Amino acid sequence: MLAMAEKPKPAVLLAGMASGPREVYESGRTKGMEWRQSQLRGLIRLLTDKEEEIFTVLYEDLGKHRGESFRDELGILVKSIKYTLQNLKKWMAPEKAESPLVAFPATAMAVPEPLGVVLIYSCWNLPLGLALEPLSGAIAAGNAVVLKPSELAPSTAAFLAANIPKYLDSRAVKVVLGGPSVGEELMEHRWDKVLFTGSARVGRIIMAKAVKHLTPVALELGSKCPCIVDWLGSKRDRQIAVNRIIGAKWSTCAGQACIAIDHVIVEERFAPILIELLKSTLKRFLAKPGGMARILNAKHFERLSGYLEDNGVAASVVHGGDIDPKTLSIEPTILLNPPVDSDVMNEEIFGPILPIITVKKTEDCIAYLKSKPKPLAIYAFTNNESLKRRIVEETSSGSVTFNDAVVQYALESVPFGGVGHSGFGQYHGKYSFELFSHKKAVFKRSFLIEFMFRYPPWDESKIGT
Ligand code: NAD
Repeated sequence: MLAMAEKPKPAVLLAGMASGPREVYESGRTKGMEWRQSQLRGLIRLLTDKEEEIFTVLYEDLGKHRGESFRDELGILVKSIKYTLQNLKKWMAPEKAESPLVAFPATAMAVPEPLGVVLIYSCWNLPLGLALEPLSGAIAAGNAVVLKPSELAPSTAAFLAANIPKYLDSRAVKVVLGGPSVGEELMEHRWDKVLFTGSARVGRIIMAKAVKHLTPVALELGSKCPCIVDWLGSKRDRQIAVNRIIGAKWSTCAGQACIAIDHVIVEERFAPILIELLKSTLKRFLAKPGGMARILNAKHFERLSGYLEDNGVAASVVHGGDIDPKTLSIEPTILLNPPVDSDVMNEEIFGPILPIITVKKTEDCIAYLKSKPKPLAIYAFTNNESLKRRIVEETSSGSVTFNDAVVQYALESVPFGGVGHSGFGQYHGKYSFELFSHKKAVFKRSFLIEFMFRYPPWDESKIGT
């Protein structure tokens, strides 16, 4: 499968990938509601018919347990596509707008139209979800689509390439396999929108190449997502907070997720309580083998184990820290106040290491958050309404979630995406439809009334005050 995913594609074949779907788009086939609905239904059929195969490929690529795969990828996708199907007619309808009295009688509307041919690059950590969630939005908006899955999740990429043509309109929706060179070559062609999910480094390459054809891009990038844990008085609240922190760190692709909790910020007096509770709950949650996905590959293993070897970091380990280069495994690891200039405190961790940073008072976190680049998500476990208000009003991030983490990804009702260095362009639910549509202003007038004051010859009486 790896060989298949990395096989180089001649430029001429990639040119066909761009021109074939464009021909279909130009024919008008993808624009009608029926085509869109049939494709969305095809996606649901693919996800339900092939459930077992999906669990297998996600296990092969990332060692994900089927429970996690269902929760984070398959289940969310089916729910999201059904939601799109339920709402599609409403979203496609023209939006009536006000028109000025001087234009009476007239009607103004914003009419959504597809953009054309959309290119989607997906990432390896949610290799099914990050491919099919935007794909479903692009189809719902009436576009032809080319999908380039990540070569780093080769089994899922091969699964998508083999099955999408069987369940969807194979001339309008294409899958291209390959790595960076294929990714770069694709950007030589004209697209009407590119949605890229991945690193800021590659995001910059995509954006620079998009200039050639003035292609609009949406970049879904990463960041260090902080999680504030306020003093929680009730034992029950503390336990729920800890369950959810573990869920959003070690049980979400072993922390290899753009919205996984990167680090925790907590009041000094609460840190020992939090750490003890994290340790005992981790023991329970991960008692059976297979509870945590695996580290993607040796390169990521080395990056992550390098964080633990960085100057002064080893001394901050309060839980875990064991690594095994043979199995590429890294124990769930907790650090307490690692050096502020260490790599683990300055790079996106994207793995099972959790630094805990202490502050004198929880409110001090506001200054800390404001001093950092805008993340994809900010999390806070707190019952303090004033703190919640301050986080929403005084800080900036793609999303804010209180008393939970990562679950915002499963909501269709709010936009998903970054801001500043965590990216731009929002999708999910109606926001996907809007991302992949153009809202065309349509203004209709009649010949009934004509005001001559809008034409020359000019005189003072025509200038209304
Ligand atoms: P990456 O940036 O290397 O790859 C992403 C995609 O780009 C893949 O399809 C890959 O084949 C392609 N690609 C790689 N090099 C390319 C090139 N030179 N030209 C064109 N295409 C190229 O992926 P990564 O660094 O392993 O991803 C991890 C990052 O992605 C993290 O920062 C993470 O936070 C972020 N991420 C963001 C989201 C989100 O929704 N915001 C989701 C998942 C991951």
